[in-house]
Amino acid sequence: MSGFACIEEKVRAGERLDADDGLALWLEPDLLRLGQLANHVRERLHGDRTYFNVNMRVEVTNVCGASCSFCAFAKLEEGAPGAHTMTHEEAWATLADYPDPRLSELHMVNGLHPGLPFEWYEELLRGWKRVRPEVHLKCFTGVEIHFFAEKFGLTHEQVLTRLRAAGLGSLPGGGAEIFHPEVRRRIAPDKATGEQYLAVHRTAHRLGMPTNVTMLYGHIETFEHRVDHLLKLRELQDETAGLQCFIPLAFHNENNSLQKLPEPTAVDDLRAIAIGRLMLDNVPHVKAYWVSMGVDVAQIALRFGADDLDGTIVHETIYHSAGSRVPMGLTRDALVRLIREAGRIPVERDTQYRVVEELPKAALPEAAMKVSARNAERRSLAVVAR
Ligand code: SF4
Repeated sequence: MSGFACIEEKVRAGERLDADDGLALWLEPDLLRLGQLANHVRERLHGDRTYFNVNMRVEVTNVCGASCSFCAFAKLEEGAPGAHTMTHEEAWATLADYPDPRLSELHMVNGLHPGLPFEWYEELLRGWKRVRPEVHLKCFTGVEIHFFAEKFGLTHEQVLTRLRAAGLGSLPGGGAEIFHPEVRRRIAPDKATGEQYLAVHRTAHRLGMPTNVTMLYGHIETFEHRVDHLLKLRELQDETAGLQCFIPLAFHNENNSLQKLPEPTAVDDLRAIAIGRLMLDNVPHVKAYWVSMGVDVAQIALRFGADDLDGTIVHETIYHSAGSRVPMGLTRDALVRLIREAGRIPVERDTQYRVVEELPKAALPEAAMKVSARNAERRSLAVVAR
């Protein structure tokens, strides 16, 4: 039996894949076979149900003392061209003025600002809770939490406990990049290590706070580094069961110091989704983040292992600084249409995957409905002509 056939057998029997299997998956040339296997797992877990949410992204400051080589978002200091830090009032207004009553999540990620006091962040969250108490605050990556701990002389637990008291609901998955020190030292030398990032998530889970997690792929890492990253996530999840969702993030190459590297192709995007689904047998959801892989590929990824499309986003700047050409946001209707056209059931969720509304699956793909409508029209014209 071929290597891939053995893996297929293991997956269909519900057995766990090991590091060698992981590597074999990245080396497997047959994308459709890989996708089909990941889709089998996705459907075993979720059937046709495909999640999205009504959320908005906010980046309150892009000032950051770190210098990750893939980053096009950060500005080293206040006053540098393009550097911006919102006032509390500006930040609160983004939420207070947002018109959609369905909004259920605010997702914030920032630079590691060298000058803002910890109390500034606590008040930021408290203010948002004052204006829209029902909106879940998914804020600060594991990297930011570790930065606060080091800068303010607190433990991870103290940082998380104080931010939670101010309104924090969960942590997004950004900042994971690639955990392996061979890569991390070169692309993100001056922020939390892989171990420190995982320690933040471990502490959050112990405190009952769910988190998501990412993997930035397609730059200088090898397939071995990707497998190592996935295995570390699986190990953490075995221990805590606090990860909700895995989100592969495609490297973008504009306006950063890795501009000479090509970006990952659609095939690599789909493989990252599929292999994430196959290796992370204990993580409930895999997200096709449309901002990262583009709307079209994200939609196709719903047949390659992904069961989540993320949300409306409204205004994304991190990927757009690095050359993303996708829209800044998508409407709820557009997300529903993308999911229906993929033959799936759209399920609006909150941050913790509680169902807000489940919508019916489309009876037929849109194009087929148009053809049927045209046929019906032709038939009725024929009747009139008789
Ligand atoms: S990736 Fe994050 S930590 Fe690194 S430079 Fe950009 S904003 Fe700063």
